Amino acid sequence: MDFEAVIGLEVHAQLLTKSKIFCSCPTAFGHGDNENVCPVCTGLPGALPVLNKQVVDFAILTGLALNCKIQKHNIFARKNYFYPDLPKGYQISQYEEPICLGGKLTFLVDGNEMTVGVTRIHMEEDAGKNTHHGEFSLVNLNRSSVPLLEIVSEPDMRTPKQAGEYLRALRSVLLYLGVCDGNMDEGSLRCDANVSVRTRGAEKFGTKVELKNINSFRFVEKAIEYEIGRQIDLIEQGQKIVQETRLYDPDKNRTVGMRSKEEAHDYRYFPDPDLLPLRLSDEWIDGVRKQLPELPYEKMNRFATQFGLPRYDAQILTQSRDLAQYFETAVKRSNNPKGTSNWIMSELLRVLNDQKKEVADSPVNADQLGDLVRLIDQGQMSGKIAKGIFEDLAAGKFSNKTVEQIVKENGLVQVTDTKAIEAVIDKIIAANAGQVEQYRSGKDKLFGFFVGQVMKEMKGQGSPTVVNDLLKKKLKGE
Ligand SMILES: [Zn+2]
Repeated sequence: MDFEAVIGLEVHAQLLTKSKIFCSCPTAFGHGDNENVCPVCTGLPGALPVLNKQVVDFAILTGLALNCKIQKHNIFARKNYFYPDLPKGYQISQYEEPICLGGKLTFLVDGNEMTVGVTRIHMEEDAGKNTHHGEFSLVNLNRSSVPLLEIVSEPDMRTPKQAGEYLRALRSVLLYLGVCDGNMDEGSLRCDANVSVRTRGAEKFGTKVELKNINSFRFVEKAIEYEIGRQIDLIEQGQKIVQETRLYDPDKNRTVGMRSKEEAHDYRYFPDPDLLPLRLSDEWIDGVRKQLPELPYEKMNRFATQFGLPRYDAQILTQSRDLAQYFETAVKRSNNPKGTSNWIMSELLRVLNDQKKEVADSPVNADQLGDLVRLIDQGQMSGKIAKGIFEDLAAGKFSNKTVEQIVKENGLVQVTDTKAIEAVIDKIIAANAGQVEQYRSGKDKLFGFFVGQVMKEMKGQGSPTVVNDLLKKKLKGE
């Protein structure tokens, strides 16, 4: 039988607010256990929550970026369950009337455009954290009531790859908006996947399994792929899929049953009587709309059109706002979009990756990179010298100096003096009589060999344009 998978993702994004969602405790990471707590976020009786406006602004901004309809009337609900890291015995979330409904996200999968529906976005608080130490366990409530957005997609994806690209695109949007740091390793972006399979062409969905807390970017596609295979095997053996929550074990690359899936009614959701319904005015929403930046997908399309770049390049360059900004600054200096893109993708990203640095901390700044590309184009510098300067900059040499200063101070000035270059060419021609003969009898490819020899002799400092011109003439015997 021919099967297809149906995949939807629920993403939890921790918001970059300074304080928690219902109290003024800091959200900062790395403080001592239970240092960032107060009566509200430890759930003491009688303590009352007060909503953090920044959380609402971030939720609206995210909703607008994902083309959602912002609900002017929305309510907070209590989601009741017991767990030691949840002292109140309920989590404040949104249920029936969330802040955003009905959006979409467009992105590329293998170069083809894909649009996935966004069902809803709601605001909620995080729980604390349990750590287990042999015979006892400890509860740290620093994370209790840190604000989260839950972004729920439609079950529009059919392959693990599509799910992976959706998550990458969503992360990129959140980073552009500055609402979340997108760090999956530290848990500030978490992903659950709903996966089911059905025979291709069937309308009815199969029984879905929820994969919980896939906490690494690399594992999203692997976990879903494993789960699809597991479900297909069961169906082919004539067994039923059980609706349940499963955990992905990255060490063994498999999913393990955790608990049978609870239904919404198990949580006894009801409106939180301590929080008024949230009413949003048009002015409020419009005010947030003004903060919307150009988003990754729009920027990618603009880069492709405005700079005539392949979409592949444009997609990589717009992965982050900082990298896109770096490119635009460098192009202003180089006036060569494709050349600049090549240098960024092959050289700069390699260096940043090796040094585990962000673009903002790049050892080679955008002006320097743009200047190197321009000087090569203008024939004032060989590619070899430019690479050398780039590597020196990457290693921390010459920091804050312009390329012009570096060239001057290090005697890297191009030799454009035709007499000096002619002398070298004559020497090379005399020393390679055999190759000269082959070249003159039609072996054009040897031209590169002569350029190489001349450049070697001149330690890379000959002007490539002048060397090329003179070599052509001399080899013709002119
Ligand atoms: Zn607090």
